[in-house]
Amino acid sequence: MTVWNKPVSWSKFKLALDCPRQLQYTIDKHPVSDTRPNFYAEAGTITQFVFEQIFNQGINMRPGGETLSVFERATEKILKSSWYLNRQITYPYGKTEEDLFTDVRNGVRKGWEIFKDLKLLNRPIRSEVKWMSTFRNMRVFALIDFVLESQRGIAIYDGKGHAKKDADERQLLYYALTVQSSNKPVSGGGFLYWKHGFEKVDISPEAVKEFVDGPFIEGQAIMRQLMGGIATDLPTKPGKSCHFCSWKNVCPDSTELKPPVDHSLPELVGFKTTDDV
Ligand code: SF4
Repeated sequence: MTVWNKPVSWSKFKLALDCPRQLQYTIDKHPVSDTRPNFYAEAGTITQFVFEQIFNQGINMRPGGETLSVFERATEKILKSSWYLNRQITYPYGKTEEDLFTDVRNGVRKGWEIFKDLKLLNRPIRSEVKWMSTFRNMRVFALIDFVLESQRGIAIYDGKGHAKKDADERQLLYYALTVQSSNKPVSGGGFLYWKHGFEKVDISPEAVKEFVDGPFIEGQAIMRQLMGGIATDLPTKPGKSCHFCSWKNVCPDSTELKPPVDHSLPELVGFKTTDDV
């Protein structure tokens, strides 16, 4: 019996939309990533961590006062003393620790430019903000990377370490819906790509409404089944998500399933066994 009774985060909701069975497997069993012993040293993730620490620790990054080089030194200090380095680190294929630091330094440099272009450097930004509310009888939850609160409303930013094509605008619409449901207006936002720049996303009330009328209703129907407790299998949606799915080896519909390997030895013709000799 699968039951979900917690507030619904975007990651769970996305699974409900992309492949309900993957969500069910994830709830029924513990995700593989929770037990992964090593830290996979992806530069984008670390760049994000560095900015979060900088905002959380209130390090002065005001223009005119601090220079980028001071900021970079602070970055390196945070990085070196961070918990990341107390764990066993796996580097992406072909990368060394030196490459990683260079990549993070470039990410920080780019991030600094992005924050500066958006005129966010001297603003009270909060990072890793948890937001919870109820929308259409469903408890919704957002963990927002960066939030700027102003008289105009809440601006929402999500940091991305990977390529642009992988970002899903529905994520910010889900966050906007969560914020709006607690009677706070959303003033704007977008994706902060540490390697590329800023991409504005339309999270206006009209865009949120369109999201609600389409994907939200679809995903909520799946979540409702899980909240009621279901004993049957939810439908699969085989496709590109199969590649990174932790359950591809148990799922009967995975597109990644390989035919079983035949380990039996081929019959040797024309060779004599020792008994024949
Ligand atoms: S392998 Fe594919 S179809 Fe199966 S649960 Fe995972 S994502 Fe869904």
